[in-house]
Amino acid sequence: MSEKLLSEKNFDVAIVGGGAAGCACAIMLSRRGKRVVVFEGGARVLTKLAATGNGRCNASNADISPAHYNAPEFVAPALGAFGAEQTRAFFASLGVALRETDGRIYPYGNNSGCVVNAFVAALGECEVRVSARVTALERREGGWSISASQDGKTRVYGAADVVFACGSNATSGLDSLSLMTALGIARTDCVPAIAPLPCAAFKGASGVRAYAEGTLLADGKPVAKRRGEVLMRDDAVSGMLAMELSSAYARLMRRGARSFELKLDFAPDFGDDEVKAYLAASPVRDARGALIAFVPRALGEKLAALAGIRADASKDDCLDALCVALRPTVKPSGMPRLKQAQVVCGGLDLDGFDPETMMSKKDRGLYAIGEALDVDGDCGGYNLQWAWASAAACARSIGGEG
Ligand SMILES: Cc1cc2nc3c(=O)[nH]c(=O)nc-3n(C[C@H](O)[C@H](O)[C@H](O)COP(=O)(O)OP(=O)(O)OC[C@H]3O[C@@H](n4cnc5c(N)ncnc54)[C@H](O)[C@@H]3O)c2cc1C
Repeated sequence: MSEKLLSEKNFDVAIVGGGAAGCACAIMLSRRGKRVVVFEGGARVLTKLAATGNGRCNASNADISPAHYNAPEFVAPALGAFGAEQTRAFFASLGVALRETDGRIYPYGNNSGCVVNAFVAALGECEVRVSARVTALERREGGWSISASQDGKTRVYGAADVVFACGSNATSGLDSLSLMTALGIARTDCVPAIAPLPCAAFKGASGVRAYAEGTLLADGKPVAKRRGEVLMRDDAVSGMLAMELSSAYARLMRRGARSFELKLDFAPDFGDDEVKAYLAASPVRDARGALIAFVPRALGEKLAALAGIRADASKDDCLDALCVALRPTVKPSGMPRLKQAQVVCGGLDLDGFDPETMMSKKDRGLYAIGEALDVDGDCGGYNLQWAWASAAACARSIGGEG
C-alpha cells in the first residue's frame, strides 16, 4: 500500500515525462531561469530517444513542411518558429554537431548516445526524478498539484505550470493520457503508425529484402507513393518503404477507410520490354528462377506463385506473366502492431490546445507537447522535430522569448 506524503517542494514548472519533448522543454526553461522538475516513470530519461533511427537518432529533416504531418494547420506555427535551422542551433548550443544525409539530419557521430549524453548534461540545472510515475494532476490555488509515485510512496509537489510530455504508448505500451482525460481534456482514438503494414501475402519469404516502388490505395484511390527497401515478413510488409507508407495507412484507417491495396513494382525503373529483355538474356531457364534479374530467388518464387506461374514453367513461355508477377497488388488489412510502431496516430485532441503555445484552452498553466498530442509526422525525423518545436513553443509561452 502506498503512503501519501506532502512534499514541501514547489517548482515553477513540473514536466511529466522525461522523453525527447519533456527534456528539451526542461533545458529550454532552465535556460530562461525557471526552476524545473522532470518526472520520469522509467528508470532513465530519454530511453526512446536512444533507440531512434536504429540507434542513430534521425533528429530532424531539411524539409520541415507542415504537409509531412497529420495536422498541418496545427503544427504550422510551432514549426514556423522552430524548424530545422533552430534545431541545428539548439543542438549546437548543447555541443552536438549534426550532419545531413539525403535530407535526414543525424548527430555527426551517427549515434543517439551523443544526443542523450548532451541532453543529460544540460539537464544539470533541473531536478530530475526517475522511477517517479505521475499518478494525478490537480488544479490548486496559483497552480497545480502533481502526485508522483516513487519507491512505493506517493509524494505531492506543487508547480505554477505543468507540461504534459508523456508521449504515446508506441512500443512501451504505457498510456498516461488518462491523467489528462481525468481533467476533462478530450483524446482521440489511436492507430499505430510508422510500422510494418499487416499483410500475409509474402508468407514463406520472411527476411528477404528487395528494392521496390510502392503505391498505397485506400478505397480504390492512390494516397501515397514511395520507393525504397522492402523487407518481407510472414505477417507483414516491412522495410523503409512500408514504414513510410504506413503513416498514410494509419491516418486513413482512423478516418474510416475500409479497404487498402498496395501496388508493388519490383522493377520500377524498367518498362515491360526492358524487363523482358533482361529475362530473355538470363542464363536461368526456369521461369521462377529468372526473376533473380530483379529480386532474390526466394521472393521470385513467391511472386511467380502469386501470379499463377507453374514451378516447372520455362521462362521463354511466360515472359508476359513474369512482367505481371514483378508488379503485384497485395491487400494490407488490420491494425499495425503497437509493439512494432514508432509512433501512434492519435492522442490529445488538438481542438483543446492553442497551436502557438501548446497550452490547454480550458486550463491556464497546463500544457501538452510532443507525441502526447494528436500529432504524428512522416518517417524521416519529423516526429523528433515536432518534439523540439512543440517544446520550444511551450518554453516561449512559459518563460518568454529566450
Ligand atoms: C524504435 C523507434 C525509433 C524511432 N526513430 C525515430 C527517428 O529516427 N526520428 C524521429 O523523428 N522519430 C523517431 N521515433 C519517434 C520518436 O522517438 C518519438 O516521436 C519521440 O520520442 C516523442 O517524444 P516524446 O517526448 O513526446 O515522447 P517519449 O520520447 O515517448 O517520452 C515520453 C516519456 O514519458 C514517460 N512517461 C509516460 N507516462 C509517464 C508518467 N505517468 N509519469 C512519468 N513519466 C511518464 C515515458 O516513460 C517516456 O520516457 C522513433 C520511435 C521509436 C519507438
